[in-house]
Amino acid sequence: MKAVTWQGRRKISVDSVPDPRIESPTDAIVRVTSSGICGSDLHLYEVLGAYMSEGDVLGHEPMGIVEEVGSEVTGLAKGDRVVVPFQISCGRCVMCAAGLPTQCETTQVRDYGSGAALFGYSKLYGQVPGGQAEYLRVPYAEHTHIKVPEGPDDDRFLYLSDVLPTAWQAVEYAGVPDGGSVTVLGLGPIGDMACRVAAQHGYRVIGVDRVPERLARVAARGIEVIDFEAVGQPLGDVIRELTDGRGTDAVIDAVGMEAHGSPFASIAQRSAAYLPDAVAQKLMDNAGIDRLAALHSAIDIVRRGGTISLVGVYGGMVDPIPMRVLFDKQIQLRMGQANVTRWVDDIMPLLVDDDPLGVESFATHRLPLSAAPEAYAMFQQKSDGAVKIVLEPSA
Ligand code: NAD
Ligand code: ZN
Ligand code: ZN
Repeated sequence: MKAVTWQGRRKISVDSVPDPRIESPTDAIVRVTSSGICGSDLHLYEVLGAYMSEGDVLGHEPMGIVEEVGSEVTGLAKGDRVVVPFQISCGRCVMCAAGLPTQCETTQVRDYGSGAALFGYSKLYGQVPGGQAEYLRVPYAEHTHIKVPEGPDDDRFLYLSDVLPTAWQAVEYAGVPDGGSVTVLGLGPIGDMACRVAAQHGYRVIGVDRVPERLARVAARGIEVIDFEAVGQPLGDVIRELTDGRGTDAVIDAVGMEAHGSPFASIAQRSAAYLPDAVAQKLMDNAGIDRLAALHSAIDIVRRGGTISLVGVYGGMVDPIPMRVLFDKQIQLRMGQANVTRWVDDIMPLLVDDDPLGVESFATHRLPLSAAPEAYAMFQQKSDGAVKIVLEPSA
């Protein structure tokens, strides 16, 4: 079969690889009809490349049709239409029962202290081949699937694999009070969808990015947006001016470690207010400081006693974290991979006829699997208006 494989930093190709087959009685094989490219794939493309091996099959946002099921898989049959959650979970352990499939004790990748195994996410998460391919082997298939009805286009359900539950959990974890406000940093697929979900909940939402098409797309849904590079002053000051001097009740960081350092975003730039000069200088000198630009921005923007919901991925050592400011502002921090199956019942009613979240038109590009190298480059460079790209193995 054809599959998208990692070949090196910023280098992927579409190769012929062996067809997956049932390896354990709890597996299923799915013929993939649509497969998203995610901001998390960009980490593997770039900064997390060290964990990848040449030939690793990428992709963790697939859906398709069940081809074959192992002898122990109940509740799933050949021909079923399924979305595949990005994490693999057994559905039977204590963590799964607690609604934390990301912490599944059966599939947990202990070597790296990671959570549940993930599709297409390197040895850090179990070295499981991914779903940007014609076929996918789904381990623990009895629980690692979301059955969806026949009829509507794939776009209606595809984002249940990651974008929707991730945005949903980001908003849940933000703990915004009724009628409260939330800033969403980053308007890629995740931040864009988090804005839509938060607005649907009735909160005041302020979206922040620097890419004009992304800002325009969110603004077109009636959401306030700020171009953090254009404001000419610290983003926190701008947001405080909009919120009676306090900052928003919550901040969702949908950026993660590949943040662009705004000239005003990082706390190091604002260090005079918080830190002794020597410590500030050390922060400024720290090579990793841009990696933290969004987190530092979030700490600055959130009101005292507010919550930061970290949905953006921070891999590796995130240091230094300004603990004194977090402590003094009494900030709650919540984070983690989205527990996909936990949120499906909440989200499903919104994937109905009038499509309040706009999932039908969420993809900016649908491309054949063979165009994956160009698609990755376009998504990373944010060129051609690319926000969400979906690959089609059968095109
Ligand atoms: P993306 O890369 O398309 O979006 C990131 C956006 O942040 C870009 O539009 C970029 O311009 C913007 N940005 C960069 N620096 C910024 C700054 N300092 N302030 C504000 N905006 C800034 O990616 P995506 O697909 O939307 O994913 C976003 C993050 O969420 C990634 O880190 C991804 O790994 C993570 N993610 C987490 C989960 C989870 O389960 N927790 C699931 C999926 C994705
Ligand atoms: Zn993803
Ligand atoms: Zn489990």
